[in-house]
Amino acid sequence: MNAIIAPVSVQPLVEVRGVRKVFDKGTGTPLVVLDNVDFSLGSGEIVGLLGRSGSGKSTLLRTIAGLIKPSAGEVRYRDQPAGSPPDDLAMVFQSFALFPWLTVLENVEVGLEARGIAASERRQRALAAIDLIGLDGYESAYPKEMSGGMRQRVGLARALVMHPKVLLMDEPFSALDVLTAETLRTDLLDLWAEGRMPIESILMVTHNIEEAVLMCDRIVIFGANPGRVISEIHVTLPQPRNRLAPAFRALVEDI
Ligand code: ADP
Ligand code: MG
Repeated sequence: MNAIIAPVSVQPLVEVRGVRKVFDKGTGTPLVVLDNVDFSLGSGEIVGLLGRSGSGKSTLLRTIAGLIKPSAGEVRYRDQPAGSPPDDLAMVFQSFALFPWLTVLENVEVGLEARGIAASERRQRALAAIDLIGLDGYESAYPKEMSGGMRQRVGLARALVMHPKVLLMDEPFSALDVLTAETLRTDLLDLWAEGRMPIESILMVTHNIEEAVLMCDRIVIFGANPGRVISEIHVTLPQPRNRLAPAFRALVEDI
């Protein structure tokens, strides 16, 4: 049989080992959302995570990001227990999760402020991230004055400003119209391909199979048993990544 499967990097950057997450709402039976999830993200990979709504994908991403603590098991980063919150892992949310009362610049800086980084360095890093993601000139704008695509660029700048090695994206393009989504996706992949952001790996939840096929080296399917989530199928896709980008660029120039 012809080998059409591209090799993927095997050096694990992030390892999820036996992670279990139980939500106890204090009313009746506790809800088992993640049950013994094993998963690893290699260096240099973009991995898509697909699964039914409610299967625990966001919970897994938040656990990897250190935003929630697993009930059992662990998340390891470069073979060490991942810190909490580990700055090497940054997250981008479907609904952007911006502070509406803060400007673009303030939204991007706020995470650095929480880390105790000096004002001058904060400013410098935030302006660089804003410039990188194409938000130059919007520093003083408020989220409500911006389109969804621009807001998600702020979400990306806020993640990139942390200089993460791993980008965790939870349905990052699903609130956007198809052209805006494709533009942002292409811009992000261009930055990645050109080595302009120091990100080694991306883990992305998506409901869009085409998007997963276009962007990802590997797709992980989450099992849909109620209250129980198992990573089941790993599919390796042929390269090159984002092979529609040139055709798309030509198309949007005509619109
Ligand atoms: P997905 O992202 O795959 O749609 P989620 O991880 O958001 O799934 O949610 C999985 C399940 O966990 C859902 O039933 C959801 O209601 C529940 N859940 C998520 N977060 C919490 C929480 N903080 N407290 C209680 N239940 C939660
Ligand atoms: Mg979700």
